[in-house]
Amino acid sequence: MPDAFRYCFRFCCDPGFNDGIEIPKLLSFVEEARVDDVMVFVNVEEINTGHMSEQEQDVWLDLLRRIKPLLNERGVTLSVNHWHSLMHADLGKQFRADQPFRGMVDPYGNVSTLCVCPLDENWRAYIARIYARYAALSPDTVWVEDDFRYHNHAPLVWGGCFCEEHMHRFSERAGKQLTREEFVAGLLSPGEPSPYRQIWLDECRAGLEGAAQAIEQAIHAVNPDVKIGLMSSVPYVHAAEGRNWKSLLGTFSGEKNPPVSRIHLPAYQELVPSKYLQAFHMVSYVNRALLTPETLVYPELENYPYSRFSKSLAFTRFQLFGSLALNLSGMTIDLFDLNGRGIIEQDGYQQMLREAKPALNAMNESGAFSSPRKGVCVLVDEKASYHLHTASGTQMEELYPAEVFWAGLLPAMGVPMYIGTAPEDAYGVAAVSGQYFRNLTPQQIEQLFSDNFVLLNGDAIDTLADLGLAHLIGIQSIHWMAQNSGAYTYEQVTNGKIYTGVPAARASNVISGSDALNIEYLPNADIEEYSALYDSFRKRTASCQCVVGNRALIYPFGHFESPQDIPPMLLNDVRQEILQDVLAVSGRMNAPMVDGNPYLVPYAFDGGETAHLYLVNGAMDAVNGVSLRLCGLCGTYSVSILPSRGAPVVLTLRLGCERCMLPLTIEPMETALVSMRRIGE
Ligand SMILES: [Zn+2]
Repeated sequence: MPDAFRYCFRFCCDPGFNDGIEIPKLLSFVEEARVDDVMVFVNVEEINTGHMSEQEQDVWLDLLRRIKPLLNERGVTLSVNHWHSLMHADLGKQFRADQPFRGMVDPYGNVSTLCVCPLDENWRAYIARIYARYAALSPDTVWVEDDFRYHNHAPLVWGGCFCEEHMHRFSERAGKQLTREEFVAGLLSPGEPSPYRQIWLDECRAGLEGAAQAIEQAIHAVNPDVKIGLMSSVPYVHAAEGRNWKSLLGTFSGEKNPPVSRIHLPAYQELVPSKYLQAFHMVSYVNRALLTPETLVYPELENYPYSRFSKSLAFTRFQLFGSLALNLSGMTIDLFDLNGRGIIEQDGYQQMLREAKPALNAMNESGAFSSPRKGVCVLVDEKASYHLHTASGTQMEELYPAEVFWAGLLPAMGVPMYIGTAPEDAYGVAAVSGQYFRNLTPQQIEQLFSDNFVLLNGDAIDTLADLGLAHLIGIQSIHWMAQNSGAYTYEQVTNGKIYTGVPAARASNVISGSDALNIEYLPNADIEEYSALYDSFRKRTASCQCVVGNRALIYPFGHFESPQDIPPMLLNDVRQEILQDVLAVSGRMNAPMVDGNPYLVPYAFDGGETAHLYLVNGAMDAVNGVSLRLCGLCGTYSVSILPSRGAPVVLTLRLGCERCMLPLTIEPMETALVSMRRIGE
């Protein structure tokens, strides 16, 4: 019976240099760390020689042949981590004389000396042959690296590809001969997207799916059982290259295998856990929702540039437990140098991995994480780059959608959320940011508001107004107020309620806050004001947080610096209490929220008769007793608790309707899976 949570260890040694020492060390590491699969690096990073020849590959094939039976007799599978597809970066290397490959070209005409255009038929034939030779060894999975993308191929500016062949295709579809400058200016032009935008995104998608098909067919012609995994980067960046996740992974998987994905975990080096979780929710959690449920997902746990100077054992362990809500098959684990130094036993990762495995298996076996999700539905669209309006039209980065704001904010504030890829995924409460509304028709937008209570940030409100639909939320006109312009410096509660234990509580908004909208409402609008914005002279400037007609929260902050930016002042206890109060009063929340306790993140799952709540403590303070705002979970429950450290507990609890206390201690960077089954009124 395979483990419910598989460790896929990425193994680097340098054949001819230290394989004699490293292979025995690998076997003992695998046993001690309870590794399930070994992904052997080939032609990797510091010892990468460019697009290698078949003679060079022979050396690696020999290594793979020697390792495979040793692993298999221990019940461990062999996989291949061939390190380059298009190639990550030039790094001073070139194509060889017998490699007639076409270099990738950036928006300014710079040509790569080692990264290829994915349309290049010579390269496609080459990479297909390389992969076919791995398939002959019948590995469990062969991986395609995350250089399988258009962006991030240094020293190119942004990436490519605007080579002659690409320009020919763009021109053909546009029906006129285009210069690179003309096409780039067109695809980035501000306002309503020009037809060049769609040509760019469609052709990008087709180019990589074509290359994927060449690799897939070569592998499966040799061995149809070999799984093909894809490594990837940040989803809002891939949106700017037209990625259709299900289609691309489906192309790689072929007819008989499941899709396999290594999604990015956004911390190569150790971060404060709360900041890591914010990025995790805006990147990894969103990425998982863009894949089919049956995709085998093994995220990227890596401590680049390696050693415990980059990441501690404790943080590495936290990333394992902190990823479970993604609904995983396991984790890819990359811990040691890619220069061939080998496994460093004195680091002690193997003991940590061994100790964590039973709890990871038990939590994954519970079935909680594959159950339907509850809470606020944060809406994103992988095709957003087709529809968004750019600001200046000068940089490729302007094609990155900013739809994940609420995915970063809500979990930090104790509000469970999940990602919806269509408006129909929302069941009661939806959250919209950036220019998401441009992905919908006016009818879909009206339907979203009639079916749900909707959280809206300033950019979403701005977009709605630009679409001529601000009247749906009672708004007559808006204008932006710049932060630090003197117009406002703080927000003050105006509804007479006590938040954080003080009357008329204030929350700052200067220097580390954001721009805010000044909103004029329609005369007949049903507005319930929670707070207003004030200047330094205590003079009221504008209304701030308002609920309109019990259908939307107006959260007027926006104009953030990047798609992943949440200004520090928005992470604040007054704003947390207002937000939770708004959600509780709406009567539409279907999942419990965590009271207080900044960065104690709840994930809620509907397991039929059993409700699951997965709690991840991203704070540096321990939690003693978890107070929940229940939103309708009254009754007597049999509660089972699986902690990330320590023994499981079963107890009977009577839960109140408004609030209850789970008798639970969760240390910093620890987690607990709470499963609740009702046994009485
Ligand atoms: Zn090209």
